[in-house]
Amino acid sequence: MPEQRPPKKAPLNPKRTPIHENDPMERRGLFVEALIPYTREEAILEAQRCIQCGRPWCTDECPIHQDARGYIKLMAAEDFNGARDLILRDNPLASCLGDVCYHYCESVCPITKRGEAIAVRHLKRAAMMYADPAKPYAPVVPTNGMRVAVIGGGPAGLMNAWVLGQRGYDVTVFESSDRLGGLMTQTIPAYRLTDETFQEDMARFANLPVHFVFHAEFPKALDMDELLKEFDAVFVSIGTHKSRGLGIPGEDLDGVYSALSYLKESKRGERRSIRPRVVVIGGGDVAMDSARSAFRHGAQEVTVLYRRSREEMPADDQEIKEAMDEGVKFQFLVAPLKFLGTKRLEGVELQPMELGPPDESGRRRPMPAKTPPVTMGCDAAILAVSQEADLEVLPRDLEIKLAKDGTLQADPETGATKRSGVYAGGGASVVHAMAAGKRAALAMDAYMLAKKNRAS
Ligand SMILES: Cc1cc2nc3c(=O)[nH]c(=O)nc-3n(C[C@H](O)[C@H](O)[C@H](O)COP(=O)(O)OP(=O)(O)OC[C@H]3O[C@@H](n4cnc5c(N)ncnc54)[C@H](O)[C@@H]3O)c2cc1C
Ligand code: SF4
Repeated sequence: MPEQRPPKKAPLNPKRTPIHENDPMERRGLFVEALIPYTREEAILEAQRCIQCGRPWCTDECPIHQDARGYIKLMAAEDFNGARDLILRDNPLASCLGDVCYHYCESVCPITKRGEAIAVRHLKRAAMMYADPAKPYAPVVPTNGMRVAVIGGGPAGLMNAWVLGQRGYDVTVFESSDRLGGLMTQTIPAYRLTDETFQEDMARFANLPVHFVFHAEFPKALDMDELLKEFDAVFVSIGTHKSRGLGIPGEDLDGVYSALSYLKESKRGERRSIRPRVVVIGGGDVAMDSARSAFRHGAQEVTVLYRRSREEMPADDQEIKEAMDEGVKFQFLVAPLKFLGTKRLEGVELQPMELGPPDESGRRRPMPAKTPPVTMGCDAAILAVSQEADLEVLPRDLEIKLAKDGTLQADPETGATKRSGVYAGGGASVVHAMAAGKRAALAMDAYMLAKKNRAS
């Protein structure tokens, strides 16, 4: 009898199934989606590239430990409903993350050693698109009689509410604005994330004992002592809504805006135009969103000014590529010294920079070059340097600090503050904020159960 050989493994395919885009010059005037999602067939092809690693690097790297290896396997076998169910087991904001996640999982995918990482984010989006519409979660009955207050309805607060709601807690989310989703829905432009996508995710809360109260700003409308009388635990997740400025002359001129207020106005439909020559200061995703939105508001020329070089830019490569394709110009190694003009912005004075040794972030530190400042004419400047949480609004006895990235920092493992029953957290990305909300939810669950046991 001829010797039986094990079936040969399919050879590794190093090339990613391309994602298509709308024409950059056509889309740059419109707030319509820039990327065209995979077709069902493209998604299956891409999923079949996954080598199903023995150790799931992608899952380990994900802040919420989404089982990417598992759902990709199901998609490779054309089981989109199974993939969708697996995704939703751990992730109430899956549709949004399919569009905006920074896909930390892809950076560790070993296929990068031979080619391009599996397109995990695009696959998640396809799983959510091509599965049958998800059935709402079954109602959690009976509720366990304990109540939780969440301050801030962004990704951290929503994840906290979702985890605790599923465990039977009666959760009330107090949100200062008129919408949920935090910075994700208040600032990310519609060409990257639509309101409809967010509403798909919110439908997953429908049968949970989770309630939302809008226009409830802490501490104007809410008092911590009163909350602790009414609720068994409180989660503070107010996000990073305070813009950091540059602290240079001319920042108060007409035509200089903070990126957060500019993008928030845009999302609320309150901003429809901008002056013709726009500069954007910063090199992160907020800068990319500001620059690309400026074209959509009618700018004729948009230039991103960044004090380091292209290699050090923190923005996602895909976002930089899309901005470049749309005609955004980049000027690297320049730092603004002052904004020029009497009442209205007329220009910006720039110090040429060079790169020195690496700083604590590991990126090379920008230092002034021995070249004189140069002047650049502009009519509008958008400052996208960074943002942080407003600690002023929080009671001091909680002893919540600011993390380096400007987010709320309490106990790193549990989110516990110095006040019993009060927890806090957030994150500099949607999925990191969700992870903080989940960590705190698990600790709050343990705290409330212990409290209940002591009382009985
Ligand atoms: C322009 C821009 C683009 C971004 N793009 C991406 C991206 O592509 N991918 C990604 O992963 N991340 C992105 N991020 C980051 C991401 O949006 C945030 O990291 C995430 O939303 C943080 O979640 P959070 O719940 O901690 O805070 P937030 O999202 O800020 O939510 C906090 C909520 O609390 C409310 N609130 C604030 N103060 C109070 C108060 N005093 N009382 C009651 N409620 C209050 C706010 O209105 C808000 O709804 C982007 C951020 C910006 C600004
Ligand atoms: S790390 Fe990459 S190849 Fe490995 S299981 Fe995850 S997606 Fe597949």
